[in-house]
Amino acid sequence: MFFIMGISQKKKRLDYAQMAICANCGRLSQVEVYMVYQYFMFFFIPLFKWGKQYFAVSNCCHSAVELPREIGSRIERGESVTLDASILSGGIQAKACDSCGFQTVEDFDYCPKCGAKLR
Ligand SMILES: [Zn+2]
Ligand SMILES: [Zn+2]
Repeated sequence: MFFIMGISQKKKRLDYAQMAICANCGRLSQVEVYMVYQYFMFFFIPLFKWGKQYFAVSNCCHSAVELPREIGSRIERGESVTLDASILSGGIQAKACDSCGFQTVEDFDYCPKCGAKLR
């Protein structure tokens, strides 16, 4: 789950767990939901991001899927929400930085760690 945490953004695990077929590797796995907020960015890269984002993470291979905000906030409020396959397969591929290896599921154009252009 390292690639979700980024560098110093805050991450909170929500009180949610569900068994689901992982869209990435096909195994039955426990899915956890994380809320990420208040992104840290280096001052020389104008990539500020504020506000909450929600991710479902499969325990099997740690693949992460960004959840629609509306679904995430319902989970945050403690409502029982079923993450079905169509949500969980909305997959976001982690980008990896060529120069430092930093991984992020965010849609950054530049590496938040070293500033190199991401593919
Ligand atoms: Zn998996
Ligand atoms: Zn980098």
